[in-house]
Amino acid sequence: MPRYCYLCSECEKENIHFCSFTTRPDTIVCEFCGAVAVRNIVLELRRISVRPSGNWPMHSDGAGVHPRQRDAAYRESVKMGVPTGFDERGRAIFETQKHRKDYCEANFLHDNDGGYGDPAPCKPLDDADTVMVSGTKEDS
Ligand SMILES: [Zn+2]
Repeated sequence: MPRYCYLCSECEKENIHFCSFTTRPDTIVCEFCGAVAVRNIVLELRRISVRPSGNWPMHSDGAGVHPRQRDAAYRESVKMGVPTGFDERGRAIFETQKHRKDYCEANFLHDNDGGYGDPAPCKPLDDADTVMVSGTKEDS
């Protein structure tokens, strides 16, 4: 859900409000003093970092692991030929869009909202390659 910033007209503190685009109010009640806080687009844009290289490296929760699994996940990524670091929270660190695509596809992850250059849905597996999740196969 998008994050919107509001600046209080009385105490001048920043209020952060999460809501959908269609229900976004122009003003909210300041959570600190109860006065009117007005939406402030400059505050919203301030936190978006734009670098010459784009927003890379990307730290991905979706491709992340438990922090205790960081070392094992790194070693596994090296074996797969897509060396990938993991930050202190276990988030995968992707250096480029291609790195993200290669890592995700090697791990059967895809991006539902992705476009060209993003991880694509996996190809269907052959019967021989079907992964048995439950360990039992139902007879049809
Ligand atoms: Zn206030």
